[in-house]
Amino acid sequence: MTRAFNFSPGPAALPEAVLEQAQAELLDYRGTGHSVLEMSHRSSEFIEIAASAEADFRELLGIGGDYHVLFLQGGATQQFALVPMNLAAAGDTADYIHTGSWGTKAIKEASQLVRVHVAASSEKQSFTCVPPASEWRLTPNAAYCHITTNETIGGVQFHDYPDVGAPLVADMSSEILSRPVDVSRFGLIYAGAQKNIGPAGLVVVVVRKDLAGKARPGTPSILDYAVHAAEDSMFNTPPTFAWYLAGLVFAWVKAEGGVAEMARRSARKAGRLYAAIEASNFYTAPVAKADRSLMNVPFTLADATLDAAFLAGAEERGLKNLKGHRSVGGMRASLYNAVTEAAVDALVGYMQEFEAERG
Ligand SMILES: *Cc1c(COP(=O)(O)O)cnc(C)c1O
Repeated sequence: MTRAFNFSPGPAALPEAVLEQAQAELLDYRGTGHSVLEMSHRSSEFIEIAASAEADFRELLGIGGDYHVLFLQGGATQQFALVPMNLAAAGDTADYIHTGSWGTKAIKEASQLVRVHVAASSEKQSFTCVPPASEWRLTPNAAYCHITTNETIGGVQFHDYPDVGAPLVADMSSEILSRPVDVSRFGLIYAGAQKNIGPAGLVVVVVRKDLAGKARPGTPSILDYAVHAAEDSMFNTPPTFAWYLAGLVFAWVKAEGGVAEMARRSARKAGRLYAAIEASNFYTAPVAKADRSLMNVPFTLADATLDAAFLAGAEERGLKNLKGHRSVGGMRASLYNAVTEAAVDALVGYMQEFEAERG
């Protein structure tokens, strides 16, 4: 068996040790004689799996008892609607900081449910930076302020989380667990699992307890944070296997040294790749240096007609899923926690080789 170096933006690479453990436990989960896939979510075995996953996640991010942690379905996309439905009344204003494609979708969805005020945007800069906080036009008494801490497509990341008066809401789908976070500065954090947590089909929501329980009248139960919180995310059948696998990833992150260690590795991995891009006259990174993502690194070749040859050569060397998003073009290397430093070395080596031959 040869495992490729996988730079997929999501669903993305998972730690090999986690996949091996899931494989070893697949048919007979720890002597129970059946698979996690076949288990009732009400069984004592699964309740233990669920609780220990939550405990490890709370420990990794230092989440206090004043926050609910929910394991839900519907992806991060569903949260684009749940946030306004639960945190704002129809006539309220919510501020959005617009730094890329995921923010665009969050804004579009929220606009149907709340008065959206785009308090700052880098659209004029083609989403290649985070607008400086001094230029934000925040609304006094906004219901909340929404940011996308890492724009997965554009490769733009907030390296400092802002201070705003309203509850800060963050889509952290593509950076969660890659660095320490002071959760107490946020009203709500959500993250689709398929980037840094586990399989697709799961979204983790961290919501301050006083913000749950205010869903607008008419909100269906299944879209109400307070309902899920009261039922320990088992209001209906949760995505059990994804939750289990997320738990294995949390245990892996802990064993590897926690989010501080993930941050050190991310800085080394991204640092090496950006340095290689900077050192070359052939590759270009479009994002402003101060706002470059450590998770998703878009770059272009000096001659776009070589893109296909670059990708074909990468594929031959087992470097997979490097094609950039169609809205940005070029390449994108996603460097989530499970992407090893060896994978980055292999990529940088290939880039140098390709430039020497074709550049
Ligand atoms: C992937 C992603 C999403 C969408 O996640 P789904 O699970 O497909 O709904 C939203 N926001 C960001 C920042 C993402 O990276």
